Amino acid sequence: MTKPYKTLDDISALCGDITGKRVLVREDLNVPMAEGAVSDDTRLRAAVPTVAELADRGAVVLVLAHFGRPKGVSSPQLSLAQVTRPFEQVLGRPVRYIDWDGAGDAVATLAPGDIALLENTRFFAGEEKNAPDVVERFAALGDLYVNDAFSAAHRAHASTEGLARALPAFAGRQMEAELDALEKALGDPEHPVAAVVGGAKVSTKLDVLRHLVARVDHLIIGGGMANTFLAARGVNVGKSLCEHELASVADGIMAAADAAGCTVHLPYDVVVAAEFRANPPVRTVNVHEVAAYEMILDVGPAAVEALGDVLKNCRTLVWNGPMGAFETPPFDAATVALARTAAALTGDGGLVSVAGGGDTVAALNQAGVADRFTFVSTAGGAFLEWMEGRELPGVAALAR
Ligand code: ADP
Ligand code: MG
Repeated sequence: MTKPYKTLDDISALCGDITGKRVLVREDLNVPMAEGAVSDDTRLRAAVPTVAELADRGAVVLVLAHFGRPKGVSSPQLSLAQVTRPFEQVLGRPVRYIDWDGAGDAVATLAPGDIALLENTRFFAGEEKNAPDVVERFAALGDLYVNDAFSAAHRAHASTEGLARALPAFAGRQMEAELDALEKALGDPEHPVAAVVGGAKVSTKLDVLRHLVARVDHLIIGGGMANTFLAARGVNVGKSLCEHELASVADGIMAAADAAGCTVHLPYDVVVAAEFRANPPVRTVNVHEVAAYEMILDVGPAAVEALGDVLKNCRTLVWNGPMGAFETPPFDAATVALARTAAALTGDGGLVSVAGGGDTVAALNQAGVADRFTFVSTAGGAFLEWMEGRELPGVAALAR
């Protein structure tokens, strides 16, 4: 099936043999560092398939990436030079670091199959402004452009969007995998579809909820945001995190769900505590029994059991946001239990499960099930914007 965007499989047909061609590859190498070492190399590993494939095909591979938020000011602390060795190790091939000064001359010395990492794109103030002079400066170094950084695709920056307009542009393998998984989960999913939306606040996910109610059969609301929906229905949520001023918005979302034939699931039992700390005294109660001094910090076990049954009848699941305050025990119980059910159903072949969001990924890792989901997106902001149904500029620019 032809994809709506161009991939590495289209390069030969459109641009001929790429031996010796200079390919600018935008990756997400914004890895966390601790004491001078990379503390999580997930993003480095994600970059390997595309970089290795292009090098094997004889291209001169020039990796572009940002690192931290230098806001146009160069500094050794935010130099990608320190990521060059770790990237080499993950890649299992030599990587040449190239500074912006004299980059053109350095690139000219590279041979087919060579791989180089260019300095932090955000050392140019114009990168985040998608400034034409920065686009030109990058474009002058290459013949082709490959965007492999889905997680940066919600920003129209010079290296994520501008370049795709300046050079023949293609999606890399990681970008392709991400877009395929997201398409399977929400673009053209097998029904019934369930969405789990949790996390702290409704206000940060209003557009996500509005987009989902028209597309999914079951909307499972958990986390702090469930409190706002419960309160809108007249439940006294005590001292829980709750955006009371959004009651009418919550009502509107529930009405839109009704009209679209989407069933909204709110917890009917909850885990409450009088203090928010690790292992305080807790009670598991019906939502109508929360005392004025208590906080709802997790979904209760009866609701989790019922939600597991909902998932058993679904073919597709998209998940963003934890069901409870999972960082603080024992309020991870619902998230962990539901994640394990989803993982088991996925393993049985009955469910396509796609999850994303910074805290969601951490929670799935904590539950030990991240690798048993069909796809876990590590793209925070881009994943959420995609869940809102927005067009991502970095993806739009790769359209056929
Ligand atoms: P993501 O990063 O996956 O999009 P969010 O940032 O929206 O998720 O939400 C995650 C946060 O929500 C976590 O820090 C978690 O502790 C918090 N949270 C979940 N449930 C509750 C609750 N009942 N009360 C307070 N905070 C909660
Ligand atoms: Mg978060």
